[in-house]
Amino acid sequence: MRVVLFDLDDTLFAHREAVEAGITAYRETLGGPIAAAPLAEEAARWTALEEEQYHRYLAGEFTYLEQRRERSRGFVAPFGVTLSDAEAEAWFEAYRAHYENHWTLHTDALACLDALRARRLQIGLITNGDLAFQTAKITAVGLTDHLDHVIASGEVGVAKPDPAIFELAAARFGVPIEEACYVGDRFRTDALGAAGAGMLGVWLDRHGTATPEELDEASVAGVPVIRSLAALPALLT
Ligand SMILES: [Mg+2]
Repeated sequence: MRVVLFDLDDTLFAHREAVEAGITAYRETLGGPIAAAPLAEEAARWTALEEEQYHRYLAGEFTYLEQRRERSRGFVAPFGVTLSDAEAEAWFEAYRAHYENHWTLHTDALACLDALRARRLQIGLITNGDLAFQTAKITAVGLTDHLDHVIASGEVGVAKPDPAIFELAAARFGVPIEEACYVGDRFRTDALGAAGAGMLGVWLDRHGTATPEELDEASVAGVPVIRSLAALPALLT
């Protein structure tokens, strides 16, 4: 193994935690019924809206900006609020400031990267997202100097789990695909996607949600399942 590639959101970067803290803080500034609605349900609803609309962006149905507008509109709709395009963008930008206030790495990320680097492995990212936005996160959490290359779907025009993005990443590092490994929190998009392209795919199941069927499928595909990045260096020896 010469190259270890990572997913960004919810693998190295604590995205879900930042989203929940961000929407919680933003809601409070809005006051009225939006702020008074049950916290856990509303955070879950916001996360579900992100999942739905972001997938429409990755599928090419929406632009990056449109999926943001739709997330804003979807969140306020149950309160009888409708937003123009400009209002929806402003709403999202206000949320985004709160989200950015909570940007942080997962606590196991840097030690893992340092351990891999000590073995002279090359390190990179493959992320399904907009390069400028993902780069802003990478910079803010101090990851820049740890990464040799960043491959963002928004830049290269293909997204995980398409094998083309994994092939493109191996080529960017100048290594055969079987000498690269990919670690991510999404079983199908990340781990099975990488394995399908010929990489070692590793599933980071931080919350222990793997079903017996998924574990069987992982085993058949040669995909190791780990609960923390602390387990990764030992896996790659
Ligand atoms: Mg992820």
